[in-house]
Amino acid sequence: MPFQNTLEFARSLDENDPLRKYRDEFHFPKVDGKQVIYFTGNSLGLQPKRTKKFVDEVMTDWEELAVEGHFHSEKPWWDYHERLASPLAKVVGAKTKEITVMNTLTVNLHLLMVSFYRPTLKRYKIICEEKAFPSDQYMFQSQVKFHGFDPNDALVEIKKRDGENQWRTEDVIAKINEIGEELALVLIGGVNYYTGQVFDMGAITKAGKSVGAHVGWDLAHAAGNVELKLHDWGADFAAWCSYKYMNSGPGNASGVFINERHLGKDDIPRFEGWWGTKKKTRFLMKPEFEPMENADAWQISNAPILSVAPYLASLEMFEEVGMQALIEKRKKIVSYLEFVLHEIDKEVESTFEIITPEDRGCQLSVFLHGQGRPLFDYLMKNGVITDWREPNVIRLAPAPFYCSFEDMYHFGQILKKGILEGVS
Ligand SMILES: *Cc1c(COP(=O)(O)O)cnc(C)c1O
Repeated sequence: MPFQNTLEFARSLDENDPLRKYRDEFHFPKVDGKQVIYFTGNSLGLQPKRTKKFVDEVMTDWEELAVEGHFHSEKPWWDYHERLASPLAKVVGAKTKEITVMNTLTVNLHLLMVSFYRPTLKRYKIICEEKAFPSDQYMFQSQVKFHGFDPNDALVEIKKRDGENQWRTEDVIAKINEIGEELALVLIGGVNYYTGQVFDMGAITKAGKSVGAHVGWDLAHAAGNVELKLHDWGADFAAWCSYKYMNSGPGNASGVFINERHLGKDDIPRFEGWWGTKKKTRFLMKPEFEPMENADAWQISNAPILSVAPYLASLEMFEEVGMQALIEKRKKIVSYLEFVLHEIDKEVESTFEIITPEDRGCQLSVFLHGQGRPLFDYLMKNGVITDWREPNVIRLAPAPFYCSFEDMYHFGQILKKGILEGVS
């Protein structure tokens, strides 16, 4: 069915949306008393209404049981995090034992590099994407220096070709093969935070493994957004935050994948703590570390329950809906947004350009020609929450859980009005 840029048509898409009822399961901020159009689920997902119950439950158990809550609350704290592994495994395409939840994303990537970035004089290079998310860049530089190498030599950034907005898989693979025996690690953001491009994670993982390197993925913008098959692709490890598409609240616990081929080993280099040792003997307080057989071996501290509880609430919703339904709605709503943008662009004569390639998830990055910043401010004032990236890009991510097709239509009208009023 061809799309139409009308309120009636947008509403008919909403009526036929199987996920429609989930919109009411989230709290929306308001501007001038009106619920906003929220495009920043790629930065901080909205709060599910049911989350409070999960957090209150922990607060009440703490209030009433205190230390006994570790073992005697309804969801005992000592193994609370284990409840997240199975639903998360489905989100990222893993086996349950390959998943754990701990710490925060950059911390986890550092900890995973302790295990999977073990440079030698011969094999010490890291391949990442050009202009990776800043936290990842700082991480790479500090890791390389920590091991006594020079970032200018050891860090190999894959570049886009001149005049192109996207990385080509063939260029990534060619670089992997070129570095070959010097390559220790490939670690790329599976979905680029700036352009929204989805990398061909299967092909890149295969290429990296074939030259003997470890391959990991930063899935901050991928988890809960695009189809992932971490186990089948054969990735060594991955980590992601829970507060973007996974709606678990600011700064909350991060998910980790470690391929089963690395599990159950006690000779793998790893930073260890008491929550990684076997449950059976953990409280005997013995000096020997006996790793859990699953990815929990990487757990160091006891889990931050108040940060894990909202993640569990959110995963309950992912379980109900399933990634397949989310992906179907996401494809449709992003296509509709793209259509609306093109329609508006025709009416206002090319004042912006979508720089997100075909291989995309939820996000469209829009380059605003001319003065973009006042237009961005205008959108915010009119209840459209987007985000601004230098030099002139706004990112629009209509998260399928809670954004409606009607939102896309209204956004188009507000954008058009702003442009026609000469805001940009
Ligand atoms: C959001 C994001 C992060 C955030 O890292 P934190 O450690 O959770 O603060 C890291 N890397 C990428 C690619 C991101 O998009």
